[in-house]
Amino acid sequence: MKFGGTSVADLDRIRHVCSLVKQQVERGDRVAVTVSAMAGETNKLVGWARELAPLHNQPEHDVVVATGEQITAGLLALALSASGTPARSWMGWQIPIRTNSTHGSARIETIDPTELNACFQEGLVAVVAGFQGVTHENRVSTLGRGGSDTSAVAIAAALRADRCDIYTDVDGVYTTDPRIVPRARRLERIAFEEMLEMASLGAKVLQTRSVEIGMLHRVPIRVLSTFEPDGEGTLVCDEEDIVEKKPVTGIAYSRDEAKITLHRIPDKPGVAAAIFGPLADAGVNVDMIVQNVAEDSSKTNLTFTVGRSELNRALEAIEKAAAAIGYRDLTHDTGVAKVSIIGIGMRTHPGVAQTMFRTFAEKGINIEVISTSEIKVSVLIAEEYVELAVRTLHSAFDLEGI
Ligand code: ADP
Ligand code: ASP
Ligand code: MG
Repeated sequence: MKFGGTSVADLDRIRHVCSLVKQQVERGDRVAVTVSAMAGETNKLVGWARELAPLHNQPEHDVVVATGEQITAGLLALALSASGTPARSWMGWQIPIRTNSTHGSARIETIDPTELNACFQEGLVAVVAGFQGVTHENRVSTLGRGGSDTSAVAIAAALRADRCDIYTDVDGVYTTDPRIVPRARRLERIAFEEMLEMASLGAKVLQTRSVEIGMLHRVPIRVLSTFEPDGEGTLVCDEEDIVEKKPVTGIAYSRDEAKITLHRIPDKPGVAAAIFGPLADAGVNVDMIVQNVAEDSSKTNLTFTVGRSELNRALEAIEKAAAAIGYRDLTHDTGVAKVSIIGIGMRTHPGVAQTMFRTFAEKGINIEVISTSEIKVSVLIAEEYVELAVRTLHSAFDLEGI
């Protein structure tokens, strides 16, 4: 069972979570619980660390930022024990949850289940602090924002659990973010692959890496509400277990985008490598790419997108390599956003992208960059149109609730 920030936002909510865990234990199940920090806590801690030292010493940033989860793990273990359900807390390093050394967005490498299994043998509920692990250098690491989902699924995989239940402030995965489309509909099931695309394209209901681990280790993931726990929620499952296959299952959006254009670069072999090599070396993730035909045949323009937080690093890397690339101008734009439609049904329904483009045309929304895969179409548009775009697509693809 995993409980997110809003689910443990204050002591009353922790008492409520305690009663849900207790019910599960009373049904005869062995339970490991993963908790997030109280809502707002991680932002506060990130703010403090940044204020004191904006750039330096990532390992110490993680020491600070990981503490939010320590508090809630301790509090929930206290509440459980006090109410007659013996429990103990676990920090990432105590288990240990081993990660690589990429502080701030570390990847879980291994989880040794020995200690947790011993904890179950003693009849204790294990309450694990989410979002954190320990590197091979024995430093505290954190898994990136939303990382408690990943802790929970990884622990479920390590324990060979029957299921990983993610309790949050919505009662499942919706066709799109219910905060911007009130008529969004809860999905009974979603395939791992679709959920992976939804998450990586911006739906923050699950951290992308958690879905990846669930898919790899075949852990069924259920998303359900802490506040209406009797609902069925959404099951993230194998594609074969899904009967209804509409062309589009869901819509995701991301405002965390920046667009970079290199004007009048030579149109010859090796230029793309001269651009994307230095970006990779600088650790910048490039997402969408489009190469335009320029006025004369020897020069071309190249546009690509990166995460907004990586923009400055990307520009620096390009400017350093200016001589090798040979561009006339370098421009960038942060007023852009990405809107994506996702669905395994796309494989067998032709014309899905066309419906998306026509919908945008009717609303006068200009498409700047397009990228596709077998089960998704993403477009880059001006940020001001995001909500309109998502709402219009939602009805164009017949996703509305009744
Ligand atoms: P937690 O703190 O429990 O981890 P999050 O805030 O990380 O919760 O994730 C839940 C939120 O994800 C919801 O409140 C909702 O606004 C947002 N969200 C975005 N896309 C979706 C979607 N497709 N389905 C459900 N929720 C979504
Ligand atoms: N507390 C962390 C965050 O706010 C991890 C999580 O909630 O999943 O990102
Ligand atoms: Mg979350």
